[in-house]
Amino acid sequence: MTRDISRRTFLKGGLAAAGALTASSLPLPSSVKGASDQELATLIDIRKCIGCEACVEACKEVNESKFPEPEQPFPRMYPSRVKVSDWSDRRDEVDRLTPYNWLFIQEATVTVNGREETYTIPRRCMHCQNPPCADLCPWGAARKLKNGITRIDADICLGGAKCAKVCPWHIPQRQTGVGLYLDIFPGFAGNGVMYKCDRCYNRIAEGKLPACIEVCPEHVQKIGPRDEIVKEAHAIAEEINGYIYGEKENGGTNTIYVSPVPFDLLNAGIEKGPGRPGLQPVADSMAHADNLAKAMVIAPMAGIAAAAGKFIATAKKATRLKEENQ
Ligand code: SF4
Ligand code: SF4
Ligand code: SF4
Repeated sequence: MTRDISRRTFLKGGLAAAGALTASSLPLPSSVKGASDQELATLIDIRKCIGCEACVEACKEVNESKFPEPEQPFPRMYPSRVKVSDWSDRRDEVDRLTPYNWLFIQEATVTVNGREETYTIPRRCMHCQNPPCADLCPWGAARKLKNGITRIDADICLGGAKCAKVCPWHIPQRQTGVGLYLDIFPGFAGNGVMYKCDRCYNRIAEGKLPACIEVCPEHVQKIGPRDEIVKEAHAIAEEINGYIYGEKENGGTNTIYVSPVPFDLLNAGIEKGPGRPGLQPVADSMAHADNLAKAMVIAPMAGIAAAAGKFIATAKKATRLKEENQ
């Protein structure tokens, strides 16, 4: 299916406006049992996406209160190799992942049977089944919930970016000048907080659809129990003689893409780099003996660190509230 860029540009303004979130949000499908232990996955049918970016706008809208508000000036870091990452004056950038943009639309122009075709692909955290970002976070700030969501707790994260380093797609993005490191190690560790899609965990807990799914005028995405989503992805792939990405990558993820063209072609056709993940084959990183051993060592310490971090963050909030009420 051809998706030309001028059509995308034309549609962008109109549909983004048309795709506003409804006042009373749409509910999760009946097969999803709210905030239960059920592992949920999303299906993304690439054929349907017209690149209007209504989903990107909706993600920004519903998550605005979670975005960082950094304090300036930033503390000087030792060693200086821990880079400052400041996106606070580029909040409107939507052509890559940033701490203020957890979803972006990637374009791939590919040649199929001698014809040039362009596809638009929503990209964000894959919500891996065995997420290295969570298993290898030394502070217990990143963790996987029972319903398949991996999220980073901004109250605990120190911004050391281990999660971004071990993520096969380097998804999490750092903002400096915000978070717990300012109170405990302002000059020596961390350098901010890492941000990424949390699959609207709070909306799901309330029985609502993630914003990007609700707002899409083309119904590109679906959410449901993982086994149902995988089954549906295979049925579509069989029907269109298509391809699947995310079922097996990194040992399995909770984001399953279906495409009419092979993912290696799409991967070759997209712009890759910081904040712009690829669609490459990915082996199960947590099956690697080194990572398994590290995770076993980290797990108990990360639990203690997370509890201590939560305690400090709560005490800090209580002090601030007290000061505000005086
Ligand atoms: S996923 Fe839906 S809302 Fe997002 S760009 Fe594609 S068509 Fe638009
Ligand atoms: S895609 Fe990366 S950030 Fe997302 S859950 Fe997997 S490892 Fe973590
Ligand atoms: S699930 Fe929520 S946080 Fe994730 S990309 Fe969609 S709107 Fe953004």
